[in-house]
Amino acid sequence: MINPKDWLEYAEKFQGHKCPAMVVGLKAGAAALNKLGVDRAKDSELILLADVGKNHWAIDYVDGLQVITGCTIGKGNLILTNKGKLSFILIDIKHKQAVRVTPKAEVILSFRKTEFFTKFKKCGSPTSEIPDELVDPIIESVMNTTDEELLKISDIFEYNYIEEPQSFNSFVCEECDEMVIEEYGRIKGDKMACIDCAQKKRES
Ligand SMILES: [Zn+2]
Ligand SMILES: [Zn+2]
Repeated sequence: MINPKDWLEYAEKFQGHKCPAMVVGLKAGAAALNKLGVDRAKDSELILLADVGKNHWAIDYVDGLQVITGCTIGKGNLILTNKGKLSFILIDIKHKQAVRVTPKAEVILSFRKTEFFTKFKKCGSPTSEIPDELVDPIIESVMNTTDEELLKISDIFEYNYIEEPQSFNSFVCEECDEMVIEEYGRIKGDKMACIDCAQKKRES
């Protein structure tokens, strides 16, 4: 069983500040791992399909999910589905099993009524500059909320995830001499180019 409290300090260091959304991510990710009965991903044995989008409130949540599940952008096993929601599916590839977890709307709405949100976050204050006395009690209350109160956790269901093979093919762009993964190459005249060089106007 993974305990989100054991990862809080690391998660705050990783993200650079303390924030409730990230802590919800730690709790939600831990609940998903524990439901599936799996450990944090060392490699890509788990896949996380996270429904957040870009540039929206509570997206910090994904950092909590990355820290606790070990599904990361760099390993390619964190995929953002861009739906603007906090739900996610965690898939155990070997056993073809998955669980879907969502923080409950009423709990998230209750954070939006706190001074942390109304006086600071919503007004664009950088999170690191919000006083500890406003942030710490919310973090503590999230940590001590039971999974049943905080989250909707589905039953385990079958999920046959087909992984895209990793590309090992690459070439050197004939204009800028930088390495490019083959699938991202463009033809420019009679040259193979990177996307940057392909977009530059041809010199006349
Ligand atoms: Zn944050
Ligand atoms: Zn180039």
